[in-house]
Amino acid sequence: MHRRNFIKAGTLGIMTMQLKDLNNTFTEEQEVVQPAMFVGHGNPMNAIEDNAFSKSWAEQGKLVPVPKAILCVSAHWLTRGTRVAAIEKPPTIHDFGGFPQALFDVQYPAPGSPEMARLTKELITKTQVELDVEWGLDHGCWSVLNKMFPAADIPVYQLSIDYYQTPQYHYELAQFLKSLRKKGVMIMGSGNIVHNLGLFNMTDTAYDWAIEFDAKIKGFIEKGDHQSILDYKSLGQSATLSVPTPDHYFPLIYALGVMESTEHVRFFNEKTTAGSISMRSFVTTT
Ligand code: ZN
Repeated sequence: MHRRNFIKAGTLGIMTMQLKDLNNTFTEEQEVVQPAMFVGHGNPMNAIEDNAFSKSWAEQGKLVPVPKAILCVSAHWLTRGTRVAAIEKPPTIHDFGGFPQALFDVQYPAPGSPEMARLTKELITKTQVELDVEWGLDHGCWSVLNKMFPAADIPVYQLSIDYYQTPQYHYELAQFLKSLRKKGVMIMGSGNIVHNLGLFNMTDTAYDWAIEFDAKIKGFIEKGDHQSILDYKSLGQSATLSVPTPDHYFPLIYALGVMESTEHVRFFNEKTTAGSISMRSFVTTT
């Protein structure tokens, strides 16, 4: 995608590119389709720690074309019905307890995008989407972006997850978001494929069932077999233990739902942490 941009710059001349950039608006379709991402966010401390996970987030931020806006679907905004945050200055929500003060001191002052929020509401005709003027950025969103785009100068807005709906429903809803990618919006699902806090342990040795489920989902993603991912409950004991509740699994479905059938993925952070949390993440590639 970078290469296509480069060729275009070479052909039309730098001045043309600059004028085009100046004239770009969110309603115009872009030459570059923005990749979609699924990020396993794990421990909120990743937001301030310099570890392998957070270093990888920083790398990803440099590898993707700079988005015009980021639409984040986080495991930590669960609602009845679907809401989209249309707030100019989303506050940083510290939606956790028992962490050091340094984590509560983090602010991620990225602007919101009421304009894109309204467009997103219009695009989704599957259901009536409500504009929300209270929700800011929860830690599923800002803990990752704090490392990925530390300048906090890219507008970020969130879409909630209707917790009362099925995986199939979320996959179908995500189809309505696809066209945003052509308008320069990076769609980022933030959750964890394996997420069982009840069986969390400090040894960092992954449970067999966690390794098994993570590997199965990886295989389905590679094959483009999204239906098997939606039907995860039929995968037996490893699924029951890996996804005891679907909150951290649903964001994966959004990232898959905005993919084109011709696209592939590049995985990163392919590791299980604390025994029962998979950090497996991916970004789409052509
Ligand atoms: Zn979480």
